[in-house]
Amino acid sequence: MRKLSSVLVATILIAALVSVRAQERVEQDVYWKIRQEATTHSQIMHTLHFLTDVYGPRLTASPNVKAAGDWAIQQMATWGLQNGHLEGWDFGRPGWLNERLSAHIVSPVKDALVTEALSWTPGTNGPVRAAAVQITMPERPTQEELTAYFAQIKDAVSGHMALIGPPQKVPVTLNQPPPRREERDLEAQFNPAAVPFAGAGRGPQGPPNQGQQANQERRVLTPAQADDLLNAFLLANGVPVRINDAGLDHGEIRAFANRSYDPSRMPPTVVMRNEDYGRIWRLLDDKLPVELEFDIANQSYPEGRTSYNTIAEIPGTDKAGEVVMLGGHLDSWHAATGATDNAIGCAVMMEAVRILSALQVKPRRTIRIALWSGEEQGLLGSQAYVRDHFGTFENPKPEFAKFAGYFNIDDGTGQARGMIVFGPPADATVLRETLAPFRDLGVVGATVTNSRRLANSDYSSFNAAGLPGISIEQDPIQYDSFTWHTNLDTYERVIEGDAVKSAIVIAAAVYDLAMRDDLMPRFTKDQMPQAPRPPQNQRN
Ligand SMILES: [Zn+2]
Repeated sequence: MRKLSSVLVATILIAALVSVRAQERVEQDVYWKIRQEATTHSQIMHTLHFLTDVYGPRLTASPNVKAAGDWAIQQMATWGLQNGHLEGWDFGRPGWLNERLSAHIVSPVKDALVTEALSWTPGTNGPVRAAAVQITMPERPTQEELTAYFAQIKDAVSGHMALIGPPQKVPVTLNQPPPRREERDLEAQFNPAAVPFAGAGRGPQGPPNQGQQANQERRVLTPAQADDLLNAFLLANGVPVRINDAGLDHGEIRAFANRSYDPSRMPPTVVMRNEDYGRIWRLLDDKLPVELEFDIANQSYPEGRTSYNTIAEIPGTDKAGEVVMLGGHLDSWHAATGATDNAIGCAVMMEAVRILSALQVKPRRTIRIALWSGEEQGLLGSQAYVRDHFGTFENPKPEFAKFAGYFNIDDGTGQARGMIVFGPPADATVLRETLAPFRDLGVVGATVTNSRRLANSDYSSFNAAGLPGISIEQDPIQYDSFTWHTNLDTYERVIEGDAVKSAIVIAAAVYDLAMRDDLMPRFTKDQMPQAPRPPQNQRN
């Protein structure tokens, strides 16, 4: 078992001693034990190792994410959690995983290329070798213009490896964004004089601008329509591999999914690091013939049509019918092992329930952990769960009224700095009181939102239903700059000390919500914002 540095342990424990006040002795006793358990018996890196090194990448509907869920249930059972189970939901499409990918330039030079497969695309059925060709799509074409362009390039493209669009120019970054948030900004966000509504203020969309109107008059294809036609053209002309530019620096690649999730509608497709893509493009600009070789093996998993959320509980006592939830998404993208997005979030939440279980707290309400899947495809697992268990404010199920809150973590390895809860301003006061004893661990306060928009991460599936979803805001560290959805998102990018601090704060906050006399205040019927429209694009 790994040991935390003695300096970190001392920092976390000594600060706690200083902040103890007599009138809060009972809570402070639990808080002290939470800090002690978290710092002396942390399982976070062990959990992270299994979720990343053993089961990563955990693409939704793949066998990996299900195996990770099975492992988590078994692990949490050894910690004393009860009612562990996988809960199915309908993904409606087969799963997919890349098993092998090699990419080489074989002429005019020989070298290995750095690429990732686009998910839900087909493989190559063994090594394929062909000359490379540039395709520069016309800007904002109509269907007629695109058809004419395809007719013009057909012979040159047929049977070639197709590079789509000139390489993006990625400037050298001279000023990296700061890894930690400023105290002053955090104070302004989480402890303002008057509590604002963090997500408010999105007015109705204005009329389309002149550019949009002009596009409508010309019947310009949307980027998605143009891309679908491009894929059909590439398939019809026997293009063995489509190559997209990653457009990032330092070899970073973000590879997402075939928009249709149907491998028959795209050729084998890779996302290539900008440096290799630019090199090939420049060689072709020189009129040098370039030959490439790929070997891509992708596997389809029909059983993935049913995907799973991973659930386990610490049963409550006198208020066992009421539930406090905590969680994060277990699924990841596939270019790396999904360490900061979101294995570490799952490891932190599992650690929080491990700590509470180890202390043998007897919570009044049931504490339930949920590790979601389908988050990256649009918060699908958590939406299905909320729909099945709670319904919505407008159409509630019996459990809707007994819900005490859902804590969500999904912003990488950085320590928790504040929380945003969906509900009236009084909810911020509740959470601030809960978090106040942990100011020394970097958590500053809490604020509220009244936004029911589906966005960012799984907390918004609860917000959208009108339930108190709680988003944990974290230090960015290298999330936006290097690890979010990239091929660099690995075990090595996690800061253990930050994760331990988050687990302490979350364990204490979950415990408090499980012990309070009353549920957190909710919006009245008059205050409840309108229900959102159906799913939109999300970020995490
Ligand atoms: Zn995420």
